[in-house]
Amino acid sequence: MEFIVKGSFVVVRPDKILEDAVVVVEDDRIVDVGKESELKGKYSGYEIIGGKGKVVLPGLVNCHTHAAMTLLRGYADDMVLSEWLTQKIWPVEAHLKPEDIYVGTLLACLEMLKSGITAFADMYFYMDKAAKAVVESGIRAVISHGMIELGNAEKGERDLREAERIVRTCQGLGDGRVTTMFGPHAPYTCSPEYLQKVKETAEKYDVGIHIHLAETKDEVEKIKNTFGIDLKGKGVIEYVDELGILDSSVLAAHVVWVSEKEIKILAERGVKVAHNPVSNLKLASGIAPIPQMLRNGVTVGLATDGAASNNCLDIFEEMKVSAIIHKAHSFDPTVTSATEVLEMATIGGAKALFLDKDIGTLEVGKKADIVILDLKKPRLVPLHNIVSHLVYAAKCNDVCTVIVDGKILMENGEVKVLDENKVIELAQKTAEDLISRAQT
Ligand SMILES: [Zn+2]
Repeated sequence: MEFIVKGSFVVVRPDKILEDAVVVVEDDRIVDVGKESELKGKYSGYEIIGGKGKVVLPGLVNCHTHAAMTLLRGYADDMVLSEWLTQKIWPVEAHLKPEDIYVGTLLACLEMLKSGITAFADMYFYMDKAAKAVVESGIRAVISHGMIELGNAEKGERDLREAERIVRTCQGLGDGRVTTMFGPHAPYTCSPEYLQKVKETAEKYDVGIHIHLAETKDEVEKIKNTFGIDLKGKGVIEYVDELGILDSSVLAAHVVWVSEKEIKILAERGVKVAHNPVSNLKLASGIAPIPQMLRNGVTVGLATDGAASNNCLDIFEEMKVSAIIHKAHSFDPTVTSATEVLEMATIGGAKALFLDKDIGTLEVGKKADIVILDLKKPRLVPLHNIVSHLVYAAKCNDVCTVIVDGKILMENGEVKVLDENKVIELAQKTAEDLISRAQT
């Protein structure tokens, strides 16, 4: 299908904005981008979507989530992370069936598409069911089977085999929209030997690793309590680096508790960081030193984490929160700029998902993953600076049209690929059934 996406503004990249411009799409790719006046006539007969009063931008990327946790949205709040996990989340997760993962992921895909997210990194289980939801919804995702070994060799082996099965069977599904990684949960739930084994296996398949790192202050202590390993003053990043885990194929979620030295290690190894400011604030995990990471050249993308700890999957909210918390935290409003934040939400996220050759900007040759926002909203008037509006003023429901892989999935607020009401009803019923199974 060929069409033209037109806007009063086209954000080619956060540092390159064109006024009164168009993006030309043929099949799944962007074939031309430029001022409307210059491209006029060259593509006559192409359908035009968008128009005046619209801003066209690269699809937003959510670098770390547990999509099917939408089923647990609002189930348990205002608790300490360890108690929240052990008393509330893990007992319910033990009752999750494959079909629940499909429904929960489908709900997440619907929520994300409606908020302008066109790609996400997911770590959970029954990931073939998550892949099914991704394929059906038209979104793009990097999926990984979450592996929790806790020193139990048999459980570890089972998880590793399942992770391999997911990589073998899901890589490339949905015309290449589904890609895969290995998902060892964290250094406090996976032994050092296991982490190394997973790393070796991921190398064999030539895919990345998606892992939680340095999320909470007590992680060093948790590693000691679970595996009897004393880090002797070292941080978690130093520890996993010494195990040989860190390189440019690693996507590390959170990375809140890191030293200056460890930030340099992350930069040297090319590790990608998924910054989850809302989840980190809600679970009181702390504030990741993102400005320092950016200054040291670390690649950072934005993320929501699972809906149970957020409680929504909304990168506009993450953009605003990440833009402002670091200012207050350092008593310096200049430490994060709107342009840097929009970069994290687009090209930074694309790099974190190892998809930056294909997505993250609206440049010729890239996949057509495009979002259109309506600027005719009281909160977006007047307009002096479009990047400022996108980061500080816009809300996810200002998104009107979403295109992934050259397919129009939502147009003027109407979701075309899924039956929205059906997904909502199904998710409500599935969540109720799940909680009642867990409580009996
Ligand atoms: Zn997580």
